Amino acid sequence: MSKQILILGGGYGGLLSALSARAHLTHEEAEITVINRVGSHQIITELHRLAAGNVAEKAVALPLEKLLKGKQINVVVGTVDEINVEERRVLLLGGKTFSYDALVLALGSETNYFGIPGLQENSFTLKSVADANRLFAHVEQSIRNYSSTNNKADATFVIGGGGLTGVELVGELADELPAICRKYGVDFADVSLYLVEAMPSILPIFSAELIERATISLQNRGVEFLTGLAITEVNGPTVSLKDGRTIDTHTLVWTGGVQGSSLVANCGVEVNRGRATVNESLQSVSHPDVFLAGDCAVVFGPEGRPFPPTAQLAWQMGELAGANIAAHFKGTTMDSFNPVFSGTLASLGRKDGIGSVGGSGIELKGTPASLMKKASNARYLSHINGLFALAY
Ligand code: NAD
Repeated sequence: MSKQILILGGGYGGLLSALSARAHLTHEEAEITVINRVGSHQIITELHRLAAGNVAEKAVALPLEKLLKGKQINVVVGTVDEINVEERRVLLLGGKTFSYDALVLALGSETNYFGIPGLQENSFTLKSVADANRLFAHVEQSIRNYSSTNNKADATFVIGGGGLTGVELVGELADELPAICRKYGVDFADVSLYLVEAMPSILPIFSAELIERATISLQNRGVEFLTGLAITEVNGPTVSLKDGRTIDTHTLVWTGGVQGSSLVANCGVEVNRGRATVNESLQSVSHPDVFLAGDCAVVFGPEGRPFPPTAQLAWQMGELAGANIAAHFKGTTMDSFNPVFSGTLASLGRKDGIGSVGGSGIELKGTPASLMKKASNARYLSHINGLFALAY
């Protein structure tokens, strides 16, 4: 009888594990089902562009049914409500249940609000296509409101968190806001676009030279940096900073941090600070029939430090998890996870970027970094296409 592989999440880790499992197992050997909250595979590394109206939704939301057509992989659109790893059962909101012989947890990460009062209730996030659409509509509406109200809070945009998500978003808004202002007859000089970062510097993963390059490029397009200043409280439209200063805004976007999926953290598999711990084959250390891919797991590097949760790690984990499930069923040797890091690229709007690429960390800035970022997206899309060709 064919085995049941259940994959929770249709992001980078989930999609790649499904394709990889299908490339290693025939339909007679295993039935594969992917459960995802929405019907699309979302290219979340490009959401900042959607949030600024700089890319069409269809470029970042690829329908799973269409992507997996003819691959004998079932797609279920639904929200996971409960995972029971002892009884090998998954319950969806609405009552549907699924059982499995092997489970892949690929549920990604959630926004971390660090318990900051009022933050969750009064901020936007950028974790999904729906978030990005909501944000773009709101930004446009705020400028439109400002044209009639002259209320400064309508023309004030605050991004909380100067990691990659916050910086890429602020770069895109800096490029797109002038055109939105023109559309509604608003002077862009009336707009305040802040990036607030608790640490002394934005993007600490890059060299001081690249950080300076990014800072100057964004300042030249109107971004004001408030570094070394944590957001401590949000009360309706009023954002309070560590030094007691306040900013009134109708648009606060929180990009200040992520944490593993709470469903995974609470389902009974062993976790480390809320993210599932895995062995070198990407099996849960407590439940060998549970495999992990992406941000909901923690993978430690050779120096004992956890790797940051990135898309490139998620897709490599997914690919190995799928192959290792096949080995697990067949009783053959599973491979160990040896991630390859191609570097980090940050876009700074439509035409600018910085990056550190390859094993030796070659630094890129300007058009080459921007083009490389676009190429890395294209490489991902062609990679999944290659896997489609391999799948039975
Ligand atoms: P992050 O955790 O990397 O950055 C969050 C930032 O918010 C930090 O700099 C932190 O100091 C700051 N912060 C925290 N609390 C704050 C407060 N109270 N007030 C102000 N600032 C505060 O989060 P992220 O940028 O969403 O990235 C999450 C993961 O996704 C990372 O591993 C990142 O590498 C990855 N990512 C990669 C890319 C890319 O490769 N281009 C793009 C986006 C995200």
